[in-house]
Amino acid sequence: MRLAVIGAGEMGHGIAELAALHGHDVTLRDVKQEFLDRGMERIRWSLGKLVDKNQIGRSQMEDALGRIHVTLDLAHACRGADIAIEAVFEDVDLKKRVFQELDEAAPKKTIFASNTSALRITNMASVTKRPEKVVGMHFFNPPMLMPLVEVIRADTTSEATLTAAVDLAKSLGKTVVVVKKDVPGFITTRVLGPYFEEAAWIHDTEGIAIETIDAAMRFRAGFPMGPFELADQVGIDVLHHLIKNANRPVPRSVQTLIDGKKFGRKADEGYYSYKGGRPALRPDMGSGFDPIRILAPMINEAAELVALDVANPAEIDEAMRLGTAFPDGPLAMADKLGIDTVLSALRDHPRSKPAAILSEMVARGDLGAKSGKGFYEHRREREMMTQGTLLIAKDPATHVATITINRADSLNTLTPEFFEDFDRALGELQADETVRCVVIIGAGDRAFSAGADLTSFTEVSKAFKVWRSSRRSQEVFLRLANFPKPTVAAINGHCFGGGLELALACDFRIAAKRARFGQTEVNLGLVPGAGGSQRLVRLLGQAKAKELVMLGSRLTADEAASFGVVTKAVENEAFAAEVRALSEKLAKQAPIAIQLAKVLLNRATDTPVDAALEMEAMAFGLVTSSEDVFEGLQAFLEKREPKFKGE
Ligand code: NAD
Repeated sequence: MRLAVIGAGEMGHGIAELAALHGHDVTLRDVKQEFLDRGMERIRWSLGKLVDKNQIGRSQMEDALGRIHVTLDLAHACRGADIAIEAVFEDVDLKKRVFQELDEAAPKKTIFASNTSALRITNMASVTKRPEKVVGMHFFNPPMLMPLVEVIRADTTSEATLTAAVDLAKSLGKTVVVVKKDVPGFITTRVLGPYFEEAAWIHDTEGIAIETIDAAMRFRAGFPMGPFELADQVGIDVLHHLIKNANRPVPRSVQTLIDGKKFGRKADEGYYSYKGGRPALRPDMGSGFDPIRILAPMINEAAELVALDVANPAEIDEAMRLGTAFPDGPLAMADKLGIDTVLSALRDHPRSKPAAILSEMVARGDLGAKSGKGFYEHRREREMMTQGTLLIAKDPATHVATITINRADSLNTLTPEFFEDFDRALGELQADETVRCVVIIGAGDRAFSAGADLTSFTEVSKAFKVWRSSRRSQEVFLRLANFPKPTVAAINGHCFGGGLELALACDFRIAAKRARFGQTEVNLGLVPGAGGSQRLVRLLGQAKAKELVMLGSRLTADEAASFGVVTKAVENEAFAAEVRALSEKLAKQAPIAIQLAKVLLNRATDTPVDAALEMEAMAFGLVTSSEDVFEGLQAFLEKREPKFKGE
C-alpha cells in the first residue's frame, strides 16, 4: 500500500516507521526540512535500537528506510497514495486547512485518515469533497509499541473507507477497536479524561496531596502510573491544550504550572520534580484516598458510550486496556465494584452527572458480578461434583460451598453412607482455602432431611451395632459443629430427627415457611441418637428442649423461629435469596476471627468461666497478629468494605 503521512513529529515519524517496517511505501511530509530531518533521524535511531535488540535484522532496517521518502510538497506526498494519514498539531483550524489542501492535492482514490486524539472527524470530512473517504485512525504513542488503533467512523464515512482503515491498522499488527460514532474524545481520550482532570480538581479543591492520590491509583486501583505522574509524562502543556480544546474549565494547578513553564517530565518539573528520577511513592501513602472517586467518573463516561452505542462493553474495555493500561477496563471494573456502588459514588458529584444507563441497571437489579449481570453476564462458575449421597458446589466468586443431600426420592433421609460421604466432604471443604462458608441443603423442595433412614436401621439388628452407628453420626455432627468455617443449614422442607440434629450442628438455620420441624423419636419409641437431646438443651434450655423431645412436637417454621430452633423463617420465594445473602455475608467476614469466635462461642457452655475467659484473652491476642486486623481497621477508617484474606 502507498501511504502519505502528513506531519513528521512525535506521532507522524512513528507511524511512518511502523508502516515502512510492515512493507508499505511511505512518503512523509512536513513544512520545514529540519522537521523532516529530525523525523528521519528519530526513525533511524529507533530502527537501530530494534537491530541492537535483535528484534529485526539489519537488512530489514535498510529495507524499511528505503521505503520512506520525505518531501515538503504535499502533492508529491500524495502521489498514488491509497491512504493519507494526517498527524499535524491538534488544532482544528490547522487540520481543516490540511484536509482542504489534501483534497486538492491527492488523487480521487486517496482515503484521508486523521490521527487526532479528540477532534471530530466529521468536521474535517466536511471541508473536503470526499467526506465518505475520511476516517479517524487514532494511534497511540509510541505507535511502534502501542498495540491499539481506534478507527473512528465519521458521520459521513463509507463502509469501504472504514474497512480500508481497519485493514491498514491490522496490516500494521495492531488490534483495532471501531468507534461507531464520532463522539467527542472517541473512547480512550474521553474515558481517560477524568483520570487526570478529576484528580486535579480533587487536589485543587480539597487539598489532598498528589502523592496520596497517585499512590492510591497505582497501588490500590492497579494503574501503572498515578494521574499526576501521568500528566507530567504526557506534558502539562498538552493536557492544558486538550482541556481548552474540549471547552472544559482548566484546574487551577494546571494553570499555575503552565504559567511557571513547568510542563512536566520534559521540563524536569511539573507536579513533581524529576531531578531525582521517578517520584518515590509507597503503597501506604495511598491509604487516605478511595480510588472509586476517580474510577466512578471514568466508568460513567464508558457507560455513556455503551448507551450511545459507540462500542460494546468488551470493545470499550479492550480499547482502555490496550490504549491506556486501564486495569481490567472500566466496565469490567464497574461490574466488580458493583453498579450500585459506582452510582452512589456519582451521586451529588460536582462534575459528573450519572449516566441514565447506570440508574436503569440498578433499577433492574443488574448490579454486576454479585447479581450475575452487569455490563457483562457473569455466569456463576460453580464447580460441581457428586460424592455418593451428596452434591457439592463451590462458587469461587463468593467463596461459598453448598452441600446438597442428594436423596430427594427418600426425603433426603440419612444413611450410614451419608455420614461417610459427609465426613469426607467436610474434610475437603475444611482444607480448601477458597471456601469460607458452607451451606447445607436438601435436594428438592420437600425435605431438608426427614431423619435417619429407618430401612437401614432394621438391617442393623444387634444393639452394639446400633450404638456404634449412633456414635458415628455423633462424631460426624461434632465435626460439623466444630467446623472451622461458618455453616448454614438451609432448611427448605421437612426437618425431623437426624435432619434436625444435622441442622442443630450448624451455626445458623434459615427456614422456608413450608418447612416443618420435630425431634420426634419418642413417637416411634426411640430417643434422639445424633446429638439432639444435648444440642437442644444447650440451644433452648431444658424446659423447651423437653417440650420438643418428650412430647415429640411438630413445629411450623414460624413456631420453630419463635422457639429459637431456627435463626430465621422466611417466605418460600425469598428463601434462596436469604440463604445466599447470609452465606455470602459470612464468607466476607475475616476467616481467622470467625474461626476463633466460633471456638469461643461453642465452648462457652461447657468450660468453667475463668478458663473460658482465659481462652478469650488468648484468642484476642492471637487474632491481632493477622493481616486481616489491619485491613479491618483500615477499611473502617476509610469507610469502605474490608477485603479479608484469611492471613
Ligand atoms: P507534534 O507537534 O510532535 O508534530 C506535529 C508535526 O506536524 C510537526 O512536525 C509540525 O511541523 C507538523 N505540521 C504542522 N503543520 C503541518 C502541515 N500543514 N503539513 C505537514 N506537517 C505539518 O505533534 P504530535 O504529538 O505528533 O501530534 C500529532 C497528532 O497526533 C495530534 O492530532 C495529536 O493529538 C495526535 N496524537 C498525539 C499523541 C501523542 O502522544 N503525542 C498520541 C495520539 C495522537
